[in-house]
Amino acid sequence: MAPTGKHGRWLLAALAALLLCVHPAAASTGDQITDAHAFLDQTEAIRTKDHPQFVQRLKQIHQSAVALSDKDRWHLRYLDTWEAMFEGNYPASREQFQQIIRDSHDPSLAAKSSALLAMSYAVNHDYGKAVELANRLSAQLPDIPEGDTRQQVLGFLAQAFNFVGHTDLALKYARMMLSGTPAGESTCYPQLLEVFALSGGKTLASDSNELRSAIESCTSAGQPVSVNALRLVQGDRFLAEKQPAKTIATLDRIAASIQTNNYKAHLISAMTMRARADEQLGLDDQAMQAASKALAIGGLDGVSEWQRDAYGVLYRVSKRKGNAAAALDYYEHYVEQDRGYLNDVSARSLAFQLAKQQMTLKELETDALRKQNSILKLQQALNAKAVETSRLYIALLLIGLTGIALWLFRTTRSQLRFKRMATRDGLTGTLNHQHFMGECGRRLSALEKRPGHACLIWIDLDHFKQINDTHGHAIGDAALRHSVAICQQQLRPGDLIGRLGGEEFGILLGDCPREQAIAIADRIRLAIEASPMVLDEAVVSISASIGVASTTTSGHELQRLCRDADAALYRAKRAGRNRVVADADDRDAVCA
Ligand code: GH3
Ligand code: MG
Ligand code: MG
Repeated sequence: MAPTGKHGRWLLAALAALLLCVHPAAASTGDQITDAHAFLDQTEAIRTKDHPQFVQRLKQIHQSAVALSDKDRWHLRYLDTWEAMFEGNYPASREQFQQIIRDSHDPSLAAKSSALLAMSYAVNHDYGKAVELANRLSAQLPDIPEGDTRQQVLGFLAQAFNFVGHTDLALKYARMMLSGTPAGESTCYPQLLEVFALSGGKTLASDSNELRSAIESCTSAGQPVSVNALRLVQGDRFLAEKQPAKTIATLDRIAASIQTNNYKAHLISAMTMRARADEQLGLDDQAMQAASKALAIGGLDGVSEWQRDAYGVLYRVSKRKGNAAAALDYYEHYVEQDRGYLNDVSARSLAFQLAKQQMTLKELETDALRKQNSILKLQQALNAKAVETSRLYIALLLIGLTGIALWLFRTTRSQLRFKRMATRDGLTGTLNHQHFMGECGRRLSALEKRPGHACLIWIDLDHFKQINDTHGHAIGDAALRHSVAICQQQLRPGDLIGRLGGEEFGILLGDCPREQAIAIADRIRLAIEASPMVLDEAVVSISASIGVASTTTSGHELQRLCRDADAALYRAKRAGRNRVVADADDRDAVCA
């Protein structure tokens, strides 16, 4: 027998245990339905325990006028579909289950429907779809909360994976179901599934604890079909262990119960097992008889390992007996069954391998996507870092530029200050003597070339020493600034004023005729005289003596102009101060 050979048998046995266990009534019928929701829950709970009652209750709710919510209507539809599948109406039930999965929006109903739909596919040899659903359900399992639905899904998964030869997964789900069984409830079914998984994985011995404990559980739960299925597993183990007498004893023990329950799969497998045990015992006639009986039961479509095994016994015994014609005939049947059966087994295994590969592919794709995603994230992080770094560079650059700008500003400011200090008089802000002279020289030679005229005015404040002596040196300083400000008010923008030293000032009036210069000088004199410096405690009267020299009379040479202006000033002092004297010639203009 092929290693996966037993799966088909045990799956059908498990289905039998799930679908066919009929027990005395647990819920009563005939009562008025007041709570449709509770009524439907109770009905579902007895579907395998008391099937006639289940059918009766379905009829009752269909006839009742009780109001059904949307959820209740879907629940009822699910129970109707369950019943349709139970009755063997697979195509119709499949369509209904698909609708429930798609449209009910009830995760629990959808999960149970998926499990039943997958079983329906498996029974009809559509293994690809069955395995696909099983994989989807096992992926959904973490989202299914503890409870009846989860138990049903686990039970289904344990069967489905056993069926396709993945016995380790089957065992895992069976044990999950076992540990999820509420206290006080029978563990017969999950233990049965555990035994099937162990048997499928060829790790079960006839005397294993799991087998013994499962038989005990199912016996005390009053589940004869399940007990028979477990005893058949045990009988098969005895055969594998070359203990055919124990197989016969086991079969004798359950023979009556198998007859009573009249479950075809059990009838045929028990009879085939008996034939194989008889053959091992060398009881050829009995073996042939049992094998023929097994084949005569019929009722199973197509191929099965039991029919194959029965033909195998008939062929070998006929051959031993020298009945060549019969042996050949049985052999042909045997080969036909074997091929068909093996095709079916490999179809299941293939479906599983395919589904597994698809899952691996999906995992690979997910992994690739995850990697791509992390690369993207890394890139984003890098970009963010690059932006951060460039911001840092910009900030550093800005700091650098600001530093340079500040340095330039300070340097320029101090250069300007130095320049100003070099060219200006610190007290009055006018040009200092040296710079005034230099500038006068440049302007005069420029005027000489054009040619143009200019006048030089020489101012000396009168009796300034007295001001200092009377009011103090600080007031003297203020009087100096005051006088300069008055002079500047009388000048044009292009005129040049400088401090020649002490309380003496010079003014160069460019493009100015002599008469106009005298008039300006007198305006200055009058303004100084008319604007005494008013202090908190005293009034400081100031006057000035002014000498005027003009290029018209003195020429454009600075030395000469200075001398003539100074001489005119001297004369103004001599004449009594507070007056203007121009040039040295006889037509001197004197303003006082
Ligand atoms: P005069 O009418 O003949 O010009 O008489 P004066 O006193 O103005 O002339 P003098 O040349 O004798 O005195 C000039 C005075 O000016 C002497 C000095 O103390 C004062 N002086 C010169 N420079 C400054 C200055 O920067 N600040 C102050 N407060 N006084 C100054
Ligand atoms: Mg003086
Ligand atoms: Mg003076």
